[in-house]
Amino acid sequence: MSRDYGIQPRGQHYATMVDLLGRSGKLREAYEVVLNSPCKDHAAIWGALLGACRIHGDIDLVKLAADKCLELSPENAGKYVVLSNAYATFGSWDNVAALRTMMRNSGVIKEPAYSRIEIQGELDVIGIDEAQFFEDLYDFCCEAADHHGKTVIVAGLDGDYLRRSFGSVLDIIPIADSVMKLTARCELCGKRAFFTLRKTDEIQTELIGGADVYMPVCRQHYVNGQVVIEAARSVIESQKLQCA
Ligand SMILES: [Zn+2]
Repeated sequence: MSRDYGIQPRGQHYATMVDLLGRSGKLREAYEVVLNSPCKDHAAIWGALLGACRIHGDIDLVKLAADKCLELSPENAGKYVVLSNAYATFGSWDNVAALRTMMRNSGVIKEPAYSRIEIQGELDVIGIDEAQFFEDLYDFCCEAADHHGKTVIVAGLDGDYLRRSFGSVLDIIPIADSVMKLTARCELCGKRAFFTLRKTDEIQTELIGGADVYMPVCRQHYVNGQVVIEAARSVIESQKLQCA
Protein backbone atom coordinates (compact mmCIF):
# COMPACT_ATOMS: atom_id res chain seq x y z
CA MET A 1 0.00 0.00 0.00
CA SER A 2 2.71 2.48 0.98
CA ARG A 3 4.99 1.25 -1.86
CA ASP A 4 2.40 1.15 -4.69
CA TYR A 5 0.18 4.05 -3.72
CA GLY A 6 2.38 6.16 -1.47
CA ILE A 7 -0.23 5.98 1.30
CA GLN A 8 0.84 5.27 4.87
CA PRO A 9 -1.71 2.90 6.46
CA ARG A 10 -3.47 4.56 9.37
CA GLY A 11 -5.69 3.37 12.20
CA GLN A 12 -8.79 3.16 10.02
CA HIS A 13 -6.98 0.98 7.46
CA TYR A 14 -5.84 -1.46 10.14
CA ALA A 15 -9.35 -1.42 11.60
CA THR A 16 -10.76 -2.45 8.21
CA MET A 17 -8.30 -5.35 8.06
CA VAL A 18 -9.24 -6.44 11.59
CA ASP A 19 -12.91 -6.18 10.66
CA LEU A 20 -12.47 -8.35 7.54
CA LEU A 21 -10.47 -11.02 9.37
CA GLY A 22 -12.80 -10.94 12.37
CA ARG A 23 -15.99 -11.23 10.35
CA SER A 24 -14.62 -14.27 8.55
CA GLY A 25 -14.07 -15.94 11.93
CA LYS A 26 -10.28 -15.49 12.10
CA LEU A 27 -10.42 -13.85 15.53
CA ARG A 28 -6.92 -14.82 16.63
CA GLU A 29 -5.41 -13.53 13.37
CA ALA A 30 -7.40 -10.31 13.80
CA TYR A 31 -6.08 -10.00 17.34
CA GLU A 32 -2.51 -10.52 16.05
CA VAL A 33 -2.99 -7.67 13.56
CA VAL A 34 -4.15 -5.43 16.40
CA LEU A 35 -1.16 -6.29 18.58
CA ASN A 36 1.36 -5.84 15.77
CA SER A 37 -0.19 -2.67 14.38
CA PRO A 38 1.66 0.61 14.90
CA CYS A 39 -1.80 2.09 15.53
CA LYS A 40 -2.80 -0.15 18.41
CA ASP A 41 -3.66 2.91 20.49
CA HIS A 42 -6.38 3.80 17.97
CA ALA A 43 -9.87 3.12 19.38
CA ALA A 44 -11.28 2.14 15.94
CA ILE A 45 -9.04 -0.91 15.66
CA TRP A 46 -10.23 -2.26 19.03
CA GLY A 47 -13.81 -1.37 18.11
CA ALA A 48 -13.51 -3.53 14.98
CA LEU A 49 -12.18 -6.42 17.09
CA LEU A 50 -15.00 -5.96 19.60
CA GLY A 51 -17.65 -6.16 16.87
CA ALA A 52 -16.10 -9.33 15.41
CA CYS A 53 -15.82 -11.05 18.81
CA ARG A 54 -19.48 -10.38 19.38
CA ILE A 55 -20.43 -12.07 16.10
CA HIS A 56 -18.26 -15.12 16.75
CA GLY A 57 -18.86 -15.43 20.47
CA ASP A 58 -15.49 -15.00 22.17
CA ILE A 59 -16.40 -13.47 25.54
CA ASP A 60 -12.77 -13.21 26.74
CA LEU A 61 -11.72 -11.20 23.70
CA VAL A 62 -14.92 -9.14 23.99
CA LYS A 63 -13.93 -8.07 27.49
CA LEU A 64 -10.33 -7.37 26.50
CA ALA A 65 -11.33 -5.32 23.43
CA ALA A 66 -14.05 -3.51 25.38
CA ASP A 67 -11.66 -2.50 28.17
CA LYS A 68 -9.25 -1.14 25.59
CA CYS A 69 -12.01 0.75 23.72
CA LEU A 70 -13.30 2.38 26.88
CA GLU A 71 -9.77 3.23 27.99
CA LEU A 72 -8.92 4.89 24.65
CA SER A 73 -12.20 6.76 24.15
CA PRO A 74 -14.10 6.87 27.47
CA GLU A 75 -16.31 9.70 26.23
CA ASN A 76 -17.56 7.73 23.21
CA ALA A 77 -21.11 6.69 24.12
CA GLY A 78 -21.37 4.58 20.96
CA LYS A 79 -18.73 2.19 22.32
CA TYR A 80 -20.83 1.56 25.42
CA VAL A 81 -23.75 0.62 23.20
CA VAL A 82 -21.58 -1.81 21.20
CA LEU A 83 -20.33 -3.34 24.44
CA SER A 84 -23.84 -3.51 25.83
CA ASN A 85 -24.97 -5.33 22.68
CA ALA A 86 -22.06 -7.74 23.08
CA TYR A 87 -23.01 -8.53 26.68
CA ALA A 88 -26.67 -8.92 25.67
CA THR A 89 -25.61 -11.38 22.95
CA PHE A 90 -24.08 -13.54 25.68
CA GLY A 91 -27.17 -13.09 27.89
CA SER A 92 -25.02 -11.32 30.45
CA TRP A 93 -27.70 -8.99 31.80
CA ASP A 94 -25.87 -8.09 34.99
CA ASN A 95 -23.03 -6.67 32.93
CA VAL A 96 -25.52 -4.75 30.78
CA ALA A 97 -26.94 -3.20 33.97
CA ALA A 98 -23.47 -2.52 35.43
CA LEU A 99 -22.45 -0.81 32.19
CA ARG A 100 -25.51 1.40 32.34
CA THR A 101 -24.53 2.48 35.87
CA MET A 102 -20.99 3.16 34.65
CA MET A 103 -22.37 5.29 31.80
CA ARG A 104 -24.51 7.31 34.17
CA ASN A 105 -21.66 7.82 36.65
CA SER A 106 -19.23 8.92 33.97
CA GLY A 107 -21.80 11.22 32.36
CA VAL A 108 -21.88 9.52 28.97
CA ILE A 109 -25.46 8.20 29.02
CA LYS A 110 -26.27 8.29 25.35
CA GLU A 111 -28.46 11.12 24.22
CA PRO A 112 -30.96 10.42 21.44
CA ALA A 113 -29.28 10.82 18.08
CA TYR A 114 -31.35 13.88 17.20
CA SER A 115 -31.21 17.20 19.02
CA ARG A 116 -34.26 19.30 19.79
CA ILE A 117 -33.43 21.53 16.82
CA GLU A 118 -33.24 18.56 14.46
CA ILE A 119 -36.65 17.33 15.61
CA GLN A 120 -38.09 20.41 13.98
CA GLY A 121 -36.32 19.65 10.69
CA GLU A 122 -37.29 17.56 7.69
CA LEU A 123 -37.36 14.15 9.35
CA ASP A 124 -40.72 12.35 9.24
CA VAL A 125 -39.73 9.17 11.05
CA ILE A 126 -37.32 8.87 13.98
CA GLY A 127 -35.99 5.44 15.02
CA ILE A 128 -34.50 4.80 18.47
CA ASP A 129 -32.75 1.51 19.21
CA GLU A 130 -31.39 0.32 22.58
CA ALA A 131 -34.05 2.54 24.15
CA GLN A 132 -33.31 1.22 27.64
CA PHE A 133 -30.22 3.45 27.67
CA PHE A 134 -31.91 6.76 26.92
CA GLU A 135 -32.48 8.83 30.04
CA ASP A 136 -34.88 11.34 28.48
CA LEU A 137 -36.83 8.83 26.40
CA TYR A 138 -40.25 9.93 27.64
CA ASP A 139 -39.70 13.66 27.14
CA PHE A 140 -38.07 13.14 23.75
CA CYS A 141 -40.89 10.94 22.41
CA CYS A 142 -43.54 13.34 23.73
CA GLU A 143 -41.93 16.31 22.09
CA ALA A 144 -41.26 14.60 18.76
CA ALA A 145 -44.66 12.91 18.43
CA ASP A 146 -47.01 15.36 20.17
CA HIS A 147 -45.52 18.70 19.21
CA HIS A 148 -43.73 18.00 15.93
CA GLY A 149 -45.95 15.32 14.39
CA LYS A 150 -43.12 12.83 13.96
CA THR A 151 -43.54 9.07 13.75
CA VAL A 152 -41.28 7.66 16.45
CA ILE A 153 -40.34 3.96 16.36
CA VAL A 154 -38.69 2.74 19.56
CA ALA A 155 -37.01 -0.64 20.14
CA GLY A 156 -35.44 -1.83 23.39
CA LEU A 157 -35.40 -4.37 26.21
CA ASP A 158 -38.34 -4.16 28.59
CA GLY A 159 -36.80 -6.34 31.31
CA ASP A 160 -33.67 -8.10 32.54
CA TYR A 161 -33.30 -11.83 33.34
CA LEU A 162 -35.13 -11.35 36.67
CA ARG A 163 -37.99 -9.73 34.74
CA ARG A 164 -37.34 -6.37 36.38
CA SER A 165 -38.11 -3.22 34.44
CA PHE A 166 -35.14 -2.05 32.37
CA GLY A 167 -34.48 1.68 31.88
CA SER A 168 -37.51 3.80 31.02
CA VAL A 169 -38.84 1.62 28.18
CA LEU A 170 -42.03 0.77 30.11
CA ASP A 171 -42.64 4.44 30.93
CA ILE A 172 -43.40 5.31 27.31
CA ILE A 173 -46.09 2.66 26.80
CA PRO A 174 -48.89 5.04 27.91
CA ILE A 175 -47.90 7.52 25.20
CA ALA A 176 -47.48 4.91 22.44
CA ASP A 177 -49.99 4.36 19.62
CA SER A 178 -49.20 0.66 19.62
CA VAL A 179 -46.85 -1.77 21.33
CA MET A 180 -45.47 -5.03 19.96
CA LYS A 181 -43.62 -7.48 22.20
CA LEU A 182 -41.08 -9.40 20.15
CA THR A 183 -39.93 -12.80 21.39
CA ALA A 184 -37.37 -15.55 20.84
CA ARG A 185 -38.15 -19.31 20.79
CA CYS A 186 -38.20 -21.37 24.00
CA GLU A 187 -35.15 -23.63 23.98
CA LEU A 188 -37.11 -26.40 25.70
CA CYS A 189 -40.41 -26.56 23.81
CA GLY A 190 -40.16 -24.18 20.86
CA LYS A 191 -43.06 -21.99 22.00
CA ARG A 192 -42.64 -18.23 22.12
CA ALA A 193 -39.99 -17.30 24.69
CA PHE A 194 -40.80 -14.19 26.70
CA PHE A 195 -38.08 -14.53 29.34
CA THR A 196 -34.45 -15.41 29.95
CA LEU A 197 -33.64 -18.16 32.43
CA ARG A 198 -30.36 -18.36 34.31
CA LYS A 199 -29.68 -22.10 34.34
CA THR A 200 -27.15 -22.33 37.16
CA ASP A 201 -27.64 -22.04 40.91
CA GLU A 202 -25.16 -19.17 41.12
CA ILE A 203 -26.55 -16.34 43.19
CA GLN A 204 -23.88 -13.67 42.85
CA THR A 205 -25.07 -10.57 41.05
CA GLU A 206 -22.41 -10.61 38.33
CA LEU A 207 -22.29 -13.78 36.27
CA ILE A 208 -20.80 -13.78 32.80
CA GLY A 209 -21.94 -16.55 30.53
CA GLY A 210 -23.41 -17.53 27.19
CA ALA A 211 -25.82 -20.28 26.18
CA ASP A 212 -24.35 -22.48 28.94
CA VAL A 213 -25.73 -20.13 31.59
CA TYR A 214 -28.72 -18.38 30.04
CA MET A 215 -31.48 -19.46 27.69
CA PRO A 216 -34.69 -18.02 26.27
CA VAL A 217 -37.77 -19.75 27.71
CA CYS A 218 -41.57 -19.63 27.60
CA ARG A 219 -43.55 -18.72 30.73
CA GLN A 220 -44.11 -22.32 31.82
CA HIS A 221 -40.44 -23.22 31.54
CA TYR A 222 -39.37 -19.98 33.22
CA VAL A 223 -41.54 -20.78 36.25
CA ASN A 224 -40.58 -24.49 36.29
CA GLY A 225 -36.93 -23.54 35.89
CA GLN A 226 -37.05 -21.16 38.85
CA VAL A 227 -38.67 -23.89 41.00
CA VAL A 228 -35.96 -26.41 40.06
CA ILE A 229 -33.17 -23.89 40.71
CA GLU A 230 -34.68 -22.97 44.11
CA ALA A 231 -35.03 -26.66 45.05
CA ALA A 232 -31.43 -27.41 44.01
CA ARG A 233 -30.23 -24.43 46.02
CA SER A 234 -32.03 -25.53 49.21
CA VAL A 235 -30.73 -29.12 48.84
CA ILE A 236 -27.18 -27.79 48.53
CA GLU A 237 -27.72 -25.52 51.54
CA SER A 238 -29.07 -28.39 53.69
CA GLN A 239 -26.13 -30.61 52.68
CA LYS A 240 -23.76 -27.84 53.73
CA LEU A 241 -25.51 -27.66 57.13
CA GLN A 242 -25.26 -31.45 57.60
CA CYS A 243 -21.56 -31.36 56.79
CA ALA A 244 -20.91 -28.48 59.16
ZN1 LIG B 1 -41.09 -23.75 26.87
